[in-house]
Amino acid sequence: MKIETTAIHAGNQSDENTGAVIQPITLSTTYLRDQDGSYSSGYIYSRAGNPNRTQLENVLTKLEYGADAAAFSSGNAAGMTAFQSLKPGTHAICPDDMYHGLRNQLKHMFAGILEFDFVDVNDEQVLIDHIKPNTGLIWLETPSNPLLKITDIKKVVALAKQYQINVLVDNTFATPVCQHPLLLGADMVMHSSTKYIGGHSDLMGGVLITAAKDEWWTKIRQIQELGGAIPSPADCYYLTRSIKTLPYRVKGHVQNAQLLADFLVKHDQIESVLYPGLKSHPQHEIAAKQMDYFGGMLSFCLKGGEAEAKKVVNKLKLFAQATSLGGVESLIEHRASVEGPGTVTPQNLLRVSVGLEHIDDLIADMEQALS
Ligand SMILES: *Cc1c(COP(=O)(O)O)cnc(C)c1O
Repeated sequence: MKIETTAIHAGNQSDENTGAVIQPITLSTTYLRDQDGSYSSGYIYSRAGNPNRTQLENVLTKLEYGADAAAFSSGNAAGMTAFQSLKPGTHAICPDDMYHGLRNQLKHMFAGILEFDFVDVNDEQVLIDHIKPNTGLIWLETPSNPLLKITDIKKVVALAKQYQINVLVDNTFATPVCQHPLLLGADMVMHSSTKYIGGHSDLMGGVLITAAKDEWWTKIRQIQELGGAIPSPADCYYLTRSIKTLPYRVKGHVQNAQLLADFLVKHDQIESVLYPGLKSHPQHEIAAKQMDYFGGMLSFCLKGGEAEAKKVVNKLKLFAQATSLGGVESLIEHRASVEGPGTVTPQNLLRVSVGLEHIDDLIADMEQALS
């Protein structure tokens, strides 16, 4: 089945009792036992499992071509579960521009439990130099945030396999529509479903999707159940509902992002535009090879510095000044201020989550703000 069909059908189970076509939200925290004490429904207690979560996990498994998925209450909870699943003392290699929330999680919550290095994962020699006997995980995030750097997933997987290291890809920016890391050989995929999967900036969620139901996955499932960082049945319902339009929303985001990038590149107030769909992007070839679409996120650097960048943000009317991404409305932010002291993000950089407004209106707004 094609992704548009999967997105609509794989997460829904019509209700046999009432004939409701759309699956109801099951709020009950506890489930009836049979007379012999068994649980023939397959559900016992909602922390361990809930029908809405099952359906959400089913559709996400299929969208990423995985063997199973586990849903969490946020992207960071999904990331935390991946780190908690590693044996204490394991060494992880992460990108030097890893999503700052997870980078801070490692630094503040896992120091003394795991070892980790933040390196340029796009430099093969740097990767090789950092591999140690206890290295168990290479974490990738491509396109990266906010520099939109592209990592060649297949190439890193080939190297990791030689050393029996697992590769996990944070696929949040790419969405399950633009890129399928498991098909490129990765072992696990992570999403913040708060972003494109939810798509309306109104709920938090995260997910891990595995290529194999192996020992590592058993540990992930155990942490999901015992740790309890699970999404509510209503959030699972809304995510499943949002996923039905995900392929069409993402294609709209991608189309608008490409057109906005083409406009910005030609503007004389702009120093550079970072979008993998531009031929001028240093890793455009790799992106074209491993992505079906180039995504809805872009960044651009203004001529001038922080003051010029902030002035443009304040003049924009349609692009809301706010963090986060993946919603139907366009958002823009001065990324260096969000990441705080110590950030490597240039002070003249603005990050845009290109929304689904008409592109003519978005370009007109950008044009007046830049003038
Ligand atoms: C937002 C985000 C996360 C964290 O997800 P939350 O849902 O905010 O916890 C992780 N990775 C990337 C790339 C993100 O954009």
